[in-house]
Amino acid sequence: MDWLLTPGPVRLHPKALEAFSRPQLHHRTEPARALFLKARSLLREAFRTQGEVLILTGSGTLAMEALVWNLFAPGERVLVPVYGKFSERFAEIAESAGLEVDRLELPYGRVPSPDQVARPGYQGLLLVHSETSTGAMVDLPALARAFKEANPKGLVGADMVTSLLVREVALEAWGVDAAASGSQKGLMCPPGLGFVALSPWALERLRPRGYYLNLSRELKAQREGESAWTPAINLVGAVAAVLEKVLPKLPEHLALKAWQNDLLYRVGAELGLSPVPEVPSPAVAAFYLPEGVSYRAVKEAFARRQAVIAGGQGPLKGRVFRLSLMGYYNRYEALGVAALFREAFADILPAS
Ligand SMILES: *Cc1c(COP(=O)(O)O)cnc(C)c1O
Repeated sequence: MDWLLTPGPVRLHPKALEAFSRPQLHHRTEPARALFLKARSLLREAFRTQGEVLILTGSGTLAMEALVWNLFAPGERVLVPVYGKFSERFAEIAESAGLEVDRLELPYGRVPSPDQVARPGYQGLLLVHSETSTGAMVDLPALARAFKEANPKGLVGADMVTSLLVREVALEAWGVDAAASGSQKGLMCPPGLGFVALSPWALERLRPRGYYLNLSRELKAQREGESAWTPAINLVGAVAAVLEKVLPKLPEHLALKAWQNDLLYRVGAELGLSPVPEVPSPAVAAFYLPEGVSYRAVKEAFARRQAVIAGGQGPLKGRVFRLSLMGYYNRYEALGVAALFREAFADILPAS
């Protein structure tokens, strides 16, 4: 079995594996409805919202698209800070939905400051909480507050794909109205589900568009424990099982994830590697490649040890590599990965 050190998909939680060994449920039966409602209620707790969480069959990008298409009308103006591949994706989705998009372009690895988003004249702000492509984390509550002071009626939509269950998140308490996430990152489940969390205020502002993407239709069905179309019910079962296990010990889990990512950065520093992000997210450690070392050489040094890593995206392609312990790793397995990281670099950078 390979060590998945990629920031999604990740090493699975044993509760997810266990959930997949159950017989197939039919989605329009009582046990399936009970499971669906349980998953939604645990997800509400995970996102910390008094509103609703909708479970969609698709990946995280579908959840981002559903959020944008159902909360904003064509011609509305949104501000989208772009500081990595996923924030770039948010801007592209908003354009595809017919919105008027103002991009706030920042170099990859940096993060927007509250004064940069305190600009009036917008119906919305779209932000990626943990920018997986650069390893950077934004101060979401501070940015949401600054934006709303300038735009009291504006909505804040956040991508929490690699922060949910990796770092503390909250909707209403942080002034976030809607958030998107997926199953194959911090939830330690296989890919295939997207989640859209909506605060009570966002629920009042729903302006559904699309057919499969129509969140009002989903809301109606999901309140009853069903979904409009056939759901990936096996994945819903895995998500419920993992959340049931992790949420009662969430502070310990988040502390472990923070410690593990710091460990990767500590090893990187010992090896003389420079981190990419200005403010690091606990989801992934991103490093610039040392002078004269190709991404291919790093990838192969890890692959010889059965470890799969990730490279750079967009302008960082060929310039960085990324390692993540977002999946199911305990403290001692993480120490083993740290040893593997040192050994891999001993191949690449022989002691001088
Ligand atoms: C993985 C990821 C997504 C979603 O990607 P999918 O491949 O559609 O699941 C979105 N945003 C961020 C920050 C991600 O890391």
